[in-house]
Amino acid sequence: MSTINQSGWRPTTPEAGENSTATFTGNRALMLEEPLIFEIGSADTTGVDFGEVPAATSRLGGLERGKAIGLPGLSEPETVRHYTRLSRQNYAIDLGLFPLGSCTMKHNPRLNERMARLPGFADVHPLQPVDTVQGALEVIDQLAHWLITLTGMPAVAMSPKAGAHGELCGVLAIRAALEAKGEGQRKILLVPISAHGTNPASAAFAGFSVEDIPATEDGRVDLEALKARLGPDIAGVMITNPNTCGLFERDMKAISDAVHAAGGYVYCDGANFNAIVGRVRPGDLGVDAMHINLHKTFSTPHGGGGPGSGPVVLSEALAPYAPLPFVEKTADGFHLVDEETAGEHHAGSFGRMTAFQGQMGMFTRALTYILSHGADGLRQVAEDSVLNANYILRSMEDVLDAPFAKSGPCMHEAIFSDAGLPEGFSTIDIAKGLIDEGYHPMTMYFPLVVHGAMLVEPTETESKAALDQFIGAFRSVAARAKNGDPAIKTAPHFAPRRRLDETLAARKPVLTWKEPAVAEAAE
Ligand SMILES: *Cc1c(COP(=O)(O)O)cnc(C)c1O
Repeated sequence: MSTINQSGWRPTTPEAGENSTATFTGNRALMLEEPLIFEIGSADTTGVDFGEVPAATSRLGGLERGKAIGLPGLSEPETVRHYTRLSRQNYAIDLGLFPLGSCTMKHNPRLNERMARLPGFADVHPLQPVDTVQGALEVIDQLAHWLITLTGMPAVAMSPKAGAHGELCGVLAIRAALEAKGEGQRKILLVPISAHGTNPASAAFAGFSVEDIPATEDGRVDLEALKARLGPDIAGVMITNPNTCGLFERDMKAISDAVHAAGGYVYCDGANFNAIVGRVRPGDLGVDAMHINLHKTFSTPHGGGGPGSGPVVLSEALAPYAPLPFVEKTADGFHLVDEETAGEHHAGSFGRMTAFQGQMGMFTRALTYILSHGADGLRQVAEDSVLNANYILRSMEDVLDAPFAKSGPCMHEAIFSDAGLPEGFSTIDIAKGLIDEGYHPMTMYFPLVVHGAMLVEPTETESKAALDQFIGAFRSVAARAKNGDPAIKTAPHFAPRRRLDETLAARKPVLTWKEPAVAEAAE
């Protein structure tokens, strides 16, 4: 083990020998080590010159700070290097294919950024008088119109700020609708076991309890079991379509009809809308509420690259309960309907999801994406994303178990399991091996219904060449795991960090830096 020296870096003594990968600096070629900002520089250093502070008597009444403030001290070049080095330790969609399933990590077109930076959009303030932001409100209104058209639903709540936030919005609308009908006793939402964890969390947050819906052998909702559970205590269902096994729920209309007949509502998790945009309108399938992750389907940056945005489309039955505020178009322009202006017409609204109107920057990017693709281009997005996922599925099924491949083509993501790997080898080894190949790993161990799940979503923005390179790496790593190659058990070999104790990190996270002397004394 090396110890940190005064300048912050940890010199090591490389072992001799052909296979030694240790270096004196700890750097591995262009993978540069970087200590925490507190471990480098010195408190006497600063990147700015301050003028002499004029003498003045303190007016803080004895509350002045007595000790050093403990800020890091770096010159400008040291600061720039620190953050540039840290930024290089990230994987990004701008670096390569990002196979993370259920996340739709697609290219973020630069035109979107250009539009979002126009001063008329970037510099507006949510409290500006509405007659000075007519253009911004028109963007919200146009985007709302597109979402309504693409989903075949009559209304949309634009303000929720992520998929999970949209789920909460939809579930709160269901609760408000039930209460308005005097059916507040309907307290149970049925959710398939394959659902994203946010679904049961949103339901519980809104005061519902959650029961599992069983799945069939082929990875879809078991319609008969669902029907058997419906009754006067059921508020509704939350179903992801296409589901998290990458399969289209073919019985969706029959599910909706049965749930409606039993007095419940249908929430659809629309995170996987990329697979069906322009091809399927969820409104035609009887959905009452569905969130759309603009940051997935409509290409706005996410995963550390930007905030989310999760508008929720609503059916005729739920629209009266939609949250405030929203944009309304009249003969004399665009207006914001809020608590003061809503009046009788919107008296049923369950309240607010956010302080203001939602993520303006993301609305602008998403509308730019939609307008630059057009209706035909959006349909092609869905078709190409499904084609790319099936190319991966069929290119891998001879080396990795593909549990649902027998039931036909997948939608936009391909799922594999760890069945067939030798004793002692599992999904994590394949994920770590992919890091050495220069890829962010796929989604692992989700959904829970597939043992050792590996969920791969290439999206439509990858070329055939990029897919072929990924498939080559994925096949190689999978084959090495299958053949019991011991080196894959200790991968990654080339990353700055190898295998971390993730359980310890989750259970005992160290979230603040303490001076080593203080930390030692505390032990
Ligand atoms: C991403 C995702 C969510 C949550 O969306 P966020 O925008 O991350 O809150 C919910 N369900 C599924 C299936 C998802 O993939």
